[in-house]
Amino acid sequence: MPDIIQLLPDNIANQIAAGEVIQRPASAVKELLENAVDAGATEIKLIINDAGKALIQVIDNGKGMSETDARMAFERHATSKIKDIDDLFRIKTMGFRGEALASIAAVAQVELKTKKAEDAAGTYIEIENSIVKKQEPVAYINGTSIAMKNLFFNVPARRNFLKSNAAEMRHIIDEFIRVALSFPEIFFSVISNNEEIFHLEKGTLKQRIVQILGDSLNSKLVSVNENMDYLNIYGFVGKPEAAKKTRGDQYFFVNNRFIKSAYLNHAVMGAYQQMIAADSFPLYVLFIDLEPSQVDINVHPTKQEIKFEDEKIVYAFVQAAVKHALAQFSITPTLDFDLDPSIQQLDAVSKPFTEDKKAEAASSSLYKTFTQKNQAHFIERENKSELKHWKEFYESPKKESGIQTADDGRQLSTNSHQSFDSGLLNTDIRRPTTEIRNLAQIHNSYILAQTVRGFLLINQQFAHERILYERYVAAYETKSMASQKNLFPVTLNLSAQDAVLLNELLSDLNTLGYLIEPFGKDAFIIQGTPADVADGNEKSAIENLLEQFKHFSSDIKFSKREKLIRSLAWQHAIKTNVPLTEKEMDTLVEELFKCTQPNITPSGKPTYLEFKKDYIEKLFEK
Ligand code: ADP
Ligand code: MG
Repeated sequence: MPDIIQLLPDNIANQIAAGEVIQRPASAVKELLENAVDAGATEIKLIINDAGKALIQVIDNGKGMSETDARMAFERHATSKIKDIDDLFRIKTMGFRGEALASIAAVAQVELKTKKAEDAAGTYIEIENSIVKKQEPVAYINGTSIAMKNLFFNVPARRNFLKSNAAEMRHIIDEFIRVALSFPEIFFSVISNNEEIFHLEKGTLKQRIVQILGDSLNSKLVSVNENMDYLNIYGFVGKPEAAKKTRGDQYFFVNNRFIKSAYLNHAVMGAYQQMIAADSFPLYVLFIDLEPSQVDINVHPTKQEIKFEDEKIVYAFVQAAVKHALAQFSITPTLDFDLDPSIQQLDAVSKPFTEDKKAEAASSSLYKTFTQKNQAHFIERENKSELKHWKEFYESPKKESGIQTADDGRQLSTNSHQSFDSGLLNTDIRRPTTEIRNLAQIHNSYILAQTVRGFLLINQQFAHERILYERYVAAYETKSMASQKNLFPVTLNLSAQDAVLLNELLSDLNTLGYLIEPFGKDAFIIQGTPADVADGNEKSAIENLLEQFKHFSSDIKFSKREKLIRSLAWQHAIKTNVPLTEKEMDTLVEELFKCTQPNITPSGKPTYLEFKKDYIEKLFEK
């Protein structure tokens, strides 16, 4: 038998290798855009015809290539970005494998024009099927233009495998957006079939996000910014009301490289807990910068997974940073607050790294950042003194009032004994630090309250909504909602649809204090209502409740129970334009700060704003 092993010709080898890097037009778009970014371009234009099947062209004003480099660039494993294996751990560029251009040249017809600023003439290269067809000097501006035509023209099986233009275009836009978001300081234009579909002026990250994801976001972004020795986290997260039913506008970038991470996504979701429905998705565009040696990006050219040296720490930081940001938006930028105590109990923090590294770690700056005051994740263990005031305040005799007080006897939790298991996803608790005095109502809608540090402006409706929400949640858990029997049971006639809906809700409503029984076709008898529903309002209360419930159903998909509780809280909350007595205000404020999450409504709106003295003083000194 003769020997049978032969070396593959270069173009075949390149074609096979190209399969790894260039799977579809979008992968070529990504590679070419990243090359332009790596070349230091400040303006990048992307031209697409036929969803990239006919043409993908990227024109940049970056540093260009010399004649020799232009030719070398198409060789496999040809790169200017790393020289040896150690460089892999210092990567600051998007590319480093030296495979993209070789792959593209193996599966498309490529035309390159490039010129360095210091060269008089540029270089033109035409290459197809890995074979150089033409190379000559050309007059060209500084920068590079790479056009790749007829992707997979020589690999029909792959070409047939491409999806519809609409689908391929979606992939292209996804890739484009990832690059455009990570480089707001670069101008981008995208032209598809002769029509400009993106025109992104240079700007700030916030401007870029709004340019891409929509103007309506402008007022719904909360900035995240935490700088620590180990890593920096910055970017924007959406306010709870910007959450969507579909996953979508969620971006993580590690050292400016887009990544997918279910683990870090979980960290962000945890920070939103109780602020958005469990099945809705908050918006985020978050950048994590850390030492290149702390991440392994060398997993696979097209994979977006990433390995962190210590992912628990990154998780904790991400969650703390997002919580910090959300906390600031929901009250004021100056308010003190405590963040997740459980983060301190993370192994990564309380038992830094492995045991044998402990001593080293304890003296490291990372460990110190975790334990330093004013860090988002820092919590003082001995902060009971503040809480004591609150306890005294609440233990003052209960007052009579028109507003129901929760009778569940729950203690003000100090929130400092939670374990990692139960606690990591807990929302933080923030309270003004000492007693509240001199309540006054303004516009029959807001309560003005003096604190030691300044004053609070409390929205009476939102505050009451929060109070009722927590009371109903508790009632659900303990099945202990007080109900009052109606002297004269009220009959309720509903439309067929509403009757079906009410039937579904009967047992839940029962738990919440509504005693309702079916009474023939589409009719019900209301035998009893929660103690805080005024006599005579039973009928409209139920009707409004059904309306509100439907509103929630079409809005965000909460669980039935959650919708019901939110509807009830919304419905029974005192509204604005309602005068309150002093006692009512007292009780409202007292009840509010007994809540586990006093600062926001169930749907995430602030219940009060705090104005600190020094802030007020500054305003006057202007
Ligand atoms: P990598 O980006 O991994 O180095 P590529 O195959 O994408 O590999 O590119 C090979 C080399 O060609 C790069 O290292 C770079 O030196 C050069 N190059 C590619 N695109 C450009 C560009 N738009 N401007 C300047 N140089 C470029
Ligand atoms: Mg590259």
